[in-house]
Amino acid sequence: MKKSKRILSLLLVLVMLFSLAGCQSTQPASEEPTEEEVETPSEDALFTPGTYTGKGQGINGEIEVEVTVTENEITNIKVLSHNETPGVSDIAFTDIPGGIIEHQSLGVDTIAGATESSKGILEAVANALEQAGADIAALKAKEVKSEKGPSVTTEKEADVVVIGAGGAGLAAAVSAHENGASVIVLEKMPKPGGNTILSGAAYNCVDPKRQEAAGIEDSVDLHFQQTYEGGDKVGNPELIRILVENAYPTLEWLEGLGMEFTDYVFTVLGGLWPRAHRPAMPLGTGYITTFMNYIENNSSEMEVLLNVEATNIIMEDGKAVGVRAEGPDGPVIVKANKGVVIATGGFSKNTEMLNQYNKTWPDLSNTLSTNHPGATGDGIKMAVEVGANLVGMEHIQLLPLGDPDTGSLAGNIEQAVENRIFVNKDGNRFVDEGARRDVMTKALFEQEDHFLWIILDSQNYPTPDTKNNFNETIEELVEAGRAFKADTLEELAEKIGVNPDNLVAAVEKFNEHVETKEPDEFGRTLYQWKINQPPYYAGARKPTVHHTMGGIEINTEAQVIDTNGNVIPGLYAAGEVTGGIHGTNRLGGNALADINVFGRIAGRNAATLE
Ligand code: ADP
Repeated sequence: MKKSKRILSLLLVLVMLFSLAGCQSTQPASEEPTEEEVETPSEDALFTPGTYTGKGQGINGEIEVEVTVTENEITNIKVLSHNETPGVSDIAFTDIPGGIIEHQSLGVDTIAGATESSKGILEAVANALEQAGADIAALKAKEVKSEKGPSVTTEKEADVVVIGAGGAGLAAAVSAHENGASVIVLEKMPKPGGNTILSGAAYNCVDPKRQEAAGIEDSVDLHFQQTYEGGDKVGNPELIRILVENAYPTLEWLEGLGMEFTDYVFTVLGGLWPRAHRPAMPLGTGYITTFMNYIENNSSEMEVLLNVEATNIIMEDGKAVGVRAEGPDGPVIVKANKGVVIATGGFSKNTEMLNQYNKTWPDLSNTLSTNHPGATGDGIKMAVEVGANLVGMEHIQLLPLGDPDTGSLAGNIEQAVENRIFVNKDGNRFVDEGARRDVMTKALFEQEDHFLWIILDSQNYPTPDTKNNFNETIEELVEAGRAFKADTLEELAEKIGVNPDNLVAAVEKFNEHVETKEPDEFGRTLYQWKINQPPYYAGARKPTVHHTMGGIEINTEAQVIDTNGNVIPGLYAAGEVTGGIHGTNRLGGNALADINVFGRIAGRNAATLE
């Protein structure tokens, strides 16, 4: 490790101590430096020495920092409080302050996957430095020199090489190690997690314990049927069988690795049935933390290389024997003694690929996406280069519930499908809100500005600090203007600018059906509570690209199939990079089951199959 990096690490420890995810510091923070701290600056001083606090806007609210400066140097940055998502934003709280101090610049790059948090920290530091009399424009313009030395080729070797440190890749890595393999995981981003860590994280499985305790009837056959029919019978029934039969045993496997799920079983958006399980940790952080803990505990045989982008599968005599990649210091070549697993996720962030394959939606060039920036379809291209067959590439899933500004699922106020309705800009309902994701999104594209309001009542938010699964309280969302609250439906309609008579009529009609449980004019069948307990809430949403169902063809052993229908020896794939499981439409809650079930199978087989 380079010396400067070691110094940085020390600083980061300090910074991290104050930025424990989601913490709210109780430390008093003075707005102005105390008199003793202020020295008279010399003429060419950059700052008035002292300690200053500053505030910036993160994705989930305010970020507050404390910055200490001497005349010419920023010496310390402490994060006093923030409410960013644990796991997802942690890296921003270490690398941004560390980078500012190392380069004495506000021009450091934001962290991919934690962009808004990075911007919030930069804004907060700038705000503090402004009070210290700094020339902010100059600090922003100051060049951040990369320390890159001459290019060196790194060569490594492991039994199994996994490309991608999202859920599928890490599941494969852990499972390969459990089956006796040494493992190297290559990840192109600066942190593990991929889309998995950002996801709502609901995991579908038929659960003899939790569903029975909640009086929910279900069966593996019903899960099969809904998955198959929910994808218009286009998915491969053999793969779906593997998915639904292994979903619960794989959840138990995750629990065995230390992951916790709550006892709550619910219907996730587009999930069609109450069989979604919610991890105890927010978003997908539980999966990634669990796998990374396992890897850390077995670090003599397992390694995750970050900032290393795989570019090609190395083939020898028709067999996959390694991976070529590009790392921060130059090319990286990793030899795989037993097998290679491709787990690079989907291509929702690759507009060119989306437009190349899309047959269902209007042009997607301007549609936002829920995905992390690394979802660019690299694994699909690498696999095609070595002869892999692709299936179902045109099946692209959009969700109707993206944030209108960012496309993210953050800020979503819904708590359960049963208890909210959608209305358009006129205040009228337009779709069965318990329907398939594609059905809802297609209906949304027909509404004015492709725009909807989620409407629900306070039964979903019994206290103002009840959180959604993005760690955001309803009160924070209301305060930030990202949700609206009113004591009557008429008042709510006025606040969001829809026709009050229409909104009241829509809710009244919905409530009648909650009582009778009869399907309504849109065919809605999922009901639980009436919307009748003030205060009422509304939140705006738009279509957003979420999941690409198509990808590399695999068999039930997660082996990659070539264009002639034969197995490519040594090559496995799992997760969103694969195609053929979900057909035209993936059920909500099936992705997390898919990536874990097939990741586990791919890892095991890469370690053991000849
Ligand atoms: P899944 O849900 O299938 O696991 P994710 O999106 O969670 O998919 O994870 C895929 C991971 O693969 C991401 O972390 C992404 O950055 C990584 N990845 C994508 N392309 C490459 C590549 N060329 N080299 C290394 N890692 C990659």
